[in-house]
Amino acid sequence: MIGATTSGELRAHNRVRLLRAVHDCGATRTRSQLTRDLRLARGTASVLVAGLAEDELLHEEPAREHARGRPTQVPGSHPRGPLALAVDVREDAWELAACELGGRTETLDLRPHDGTPEGVLRPLGEAVAAHRRRLGHRVVGLGVAFAGPVRHGGLVDIAHLGWRSVDVPRLLGPDVPAPVVGNDTAFAALAEARRGRLRGVQVGLHLHVDFDLGGVLVVDGRPLGGASGAGAEFGHMPLTGGDRPCPCGAIGCWSMDVGTNALLRHVGLAHGGGKGRAQAERVLATSEEAVAANARALGRGIAALVNAHDPEVVTLSGHGVELRERAGKALLAACEPRLMAIRRDHPPRIEGSALGWRGALVGAMESVFDAFLTPECVEMWRENRPDQGRDTPERQNVMNSTLKG
Ligand SMILES: [Zn+2]
Repeated sequence: MIGATTSGELRAHNRVRLLRAVHDCGATRTRSQLTRDLRLARGTASVLVAGLAEDELLHEEPAREHARGRPTQVPGSHPRGPLALAVDVREDAWELAACELGGRTETLDLRPHDGTPEGVLRPLGEAVAAHRRRLGHRVVGLGVAFAGPVRHGGLVDIAHLGWRSVDVPRLLGPDVPAPVVGNDTAFAALAEARRGRLRGVQVGLHLHVDFDLGGVLVVDGRPLGGASGAGAEFGHMPLTGGDRPCPCGAIGCWSMDVGTNALLRHVGLAHGGGKGRAQAERVLATSEEAVAANARALGRGIAALVNAHDPEVVTLSGHGVELRERAGKALLAACEPRLMAIRRDHPPRIEGSALGWRGALVGAMESVFDAFLTPECVEMWRENRPDQGRDTPERQNVMNSTLKG
């Protein structure tokens, strides 16, 4: 109850706590469970839920299964409630999704792109602006993930595509909400900490494998972002002893040996520039040797990072899940002998992400709701809601519309 001194402030504080709890549990806990979790009086919880439903922030549904007695209610997202727009910009395509409180995401648009800053960000900005116009006040923010380091202010570098200090907010244009811009690995790690296998883990290591590899340490649920925001770059450490020049400007980066580009190079196919996803998927499915080489390089690097950081769990997303599944033995055989003796007795678990490819998108969503779930923003939502109270035709339209439109 930090900072809440008046009864109004206390109420605003408890509204946010309740919304946060509903969001974090994925709208799976009943009202009575939430009341206990948050140590609220039953009457207080009822008043809070009623107020949040009135403000179209929450909506209750009967629990699917309940014990004998009265049916139990489960608070979840409101059909006209707040939405986070989240985007995962990969090196060859972008995906735009609308996300509700509780974490449900629905893809609105998925498009290939030409890899240039203009070719990626102008059409993306137009798509976001169009969906924002359609969804109106429900859009409370925009989060965008990129496959490269992101510095404060939304400056993005993607070495493989030749991007250098690309000003993302400027190129998205003036009609989109001020975006939360982040690195895909850092977002995927945040998602893993909130809804995946790093939940409740004190020190975890998350690695995201796509065209190349990114990695970040997660401490108490927070990916370590670095002083300028551009952390999450374990892929650019010389962990595998190679000496190939990396497009980032360094030599011998770990990410030269793990991911789609490395798979393609292994079988002698053209690679780089965000091209070749389909071929790489074929290589993944058919070339055991290329997959094993990727997995061995992954295992070597993991050993080095485990020796340094002593994580409890290592989680893998993107292609990392398949590498773990298809070549787990090769991965562990490369990792274990490189662990310090003191680490070998209790090595950390190495697990595929529970979120697979959705991590970056989910993490972008979490960042938007982190900014929204404050007493000030929730109060602003209440004030900005159009046409409060009566059912006008316009309101009926909104009720009947779907997210996709
Ligand atoms: Zn590099």
